[in-house]
Amino acid sequence: MQSFSDRADVGHYIGGRPERASGTRSQPVFNPALGTAARTLLLGEVADVATAVAHAKAAFPAWSNTPPIRRARVMLRFLELMNAHRDELAAIITAEHGKVFSDAQGEVSRGIDIIEFACGIPQLLKGDYTEQVSTGIDNWTTRQPLGVVAGITPFNFPCMVPCWMFPVAIAAGNSFVLKPSERDPSASLLMARLLTEAGLPDGVFNVVQGDKIVVDALLEHPDVKAISFVGSTPIANYIYETGARLGKRVQALGGAKNHMVVMPDADIEQAVDALVGAGYGSAGERCMAISVAVLVGEVADEVVEKLAARARTLIVKNGMEADAEMGPVVTRQALERIEGYVALGVEEGAELVVDGRGLKVRGHEQGFFTGGTLFDRVTPEMRIYKEEIFGPVLVCVRVKDFTEAVNLINAHEFGNGVALFTRDGHIAREFGRRIEVGMVGINVPIPVPMAWHGFGGWKRSLFGDMHAYGEEGVRFYTRQKSIMQRWPESIEKGAEFAMPTAK
Ligand code: NAD
Repeated sequence: MQSFSDRADVGHYIGGRPERASGTRSQPVFNPALGTAARTLLLGEVADVATAVAHAKAAFPAWSNTPPIRRARVMLRFLELMNAHRDELAAIITAEHGKVFSDAQGEVSRGIDIIEFACGIPQLLKGDYTEQVSTGIDNWTTRQPLGVVAGITPFNFPCMVPCWMFPVAIAAGNSFVLKPSERDPSASLLMARLLTEAGLPDGVFNVVQGDKIVVDALLEHPDVKAISFVGSTPIANYIYETGARLGKRVQALGGAKNHMVVMPDADIEQAVDALVGAGYGSAGERCMAISVAVLVGEVADEVVEKLAARARTLIVKNGMEADAEMGPVVTRQALERIEGYVALGVEEGAELVVDGRGLKVRGHEQGFFTGGTLFDRVTPEMRIYKEEIFGPVLVCVRVKDFTEAVNLINAHEFGNGVALFTRDGHIAREFGRRIEVGMVGINVPIPVPMAWHGFGGWKRSLFGDMHAYGEEGVRFYTRQKSIMQRWPESIEKGAEFAMPTAK
């Protein structure tokens, strides 16, 4: 029997079942380790968005009227199914994204955490209540779902990032349209099928595959009330501005350039392990990857030497092989962009300590592989410092002290994640207070917040007011209503023309 992941054509999922795109446009989905097209993605058109939104709109009244505990029970069944299909999902991710299988399993697990959080929706939706705000009058606040909401997601976490959005949105009573990345669209279809199997009514969760045409159609559709976006900064900015102009609620998470500061008192072995894992893990294609090592004072020479040894011996191969530490990057264009940045760094005068360019993996000669690259003596004016490379390129900046490290980071346009390695509690505390970055790790290289804390950067890493998932996510997908009530026996006679005050 053909398994789900082997289907040649990748289409939509609308109204509780797979649907083909209405148009004829398509593009290949590659297996990055092999460098060959594995599937064909059928790209959606404006009409497909209209169909999906119509299904979602039709499903909304009954779903939003379903008691939260019954919505939570659907999530609970979905949680069980996701756990049962974790490895199947991880294999789909590795086949289309390229990341190593154990990392893909980790991604699915972090997505599952949010589903587990969404199972607590009855508690999360509890309002507040004040009895007797005035004699005979009570006032309470409640949170109600928005209606049809949409998610637009990037290639680098095809399971986890959609899970930042739809479990909370759906559990809160909304219906959802997901537009996954066109690079790795299959994970979303398996999740859609599992939601149906879990008992989610048809039309509450829909997937429309596609590119800018679908994104713009979602932005422009009057029945889409909110958009959650995760991707690169220029597109995040565009989504935020366009969505706001069209009267939608928007949260748009953008790109990053995450720094890790190594203080002279840090445990050097631990810091080097952290830099290698966070710099080269997932081939640097994580929004929380560390791409800048900020080396303070005399620590620099030793760290660079140890990093170089590790970068040279990284095991780079097909992510399905058990000992792979790093897989390929996602596309040939990404490979060319990344290696282009390495050439640029050399031109700009940075010291190329390890050159990962041109790596060939035996039996995978067409695969999109590049090795780990390490630059030293990078300065803040260089483009390899300023811009997001989104590949396995780690740059080292040497600074004289802690204050210079903090000022450097605070001056950067991005503010997604940051880490500090030190043994000094006071320095750690000061760092947490002074750093202008949304997510901070102290001796933790990738401080991705747990499901109930919420995820979001500062500055040009996030457009909008609310972080993803956690309680901020619940607030994003609901709106507050205040109800004030009194009953006839307590109504005093006569019209009142002054602002009412407590009596
Ligand atoms: P991308 O911005 O190219 O694409 C993201 C989504 O936007 C995709 O669904 C894509 O189809 C759509 N899109 C692309 N171009 C568009 C256009 N011109 N108009 C409308 N829609 C468009 O990002 P990507 O390459 O898929 O993902 C990598 C980027 O995402 C990196 O910059 C990374 O830092 C960022 N990212 C950020 C976070 C975060 O939490 N801040 C998390 C993951 C990834």
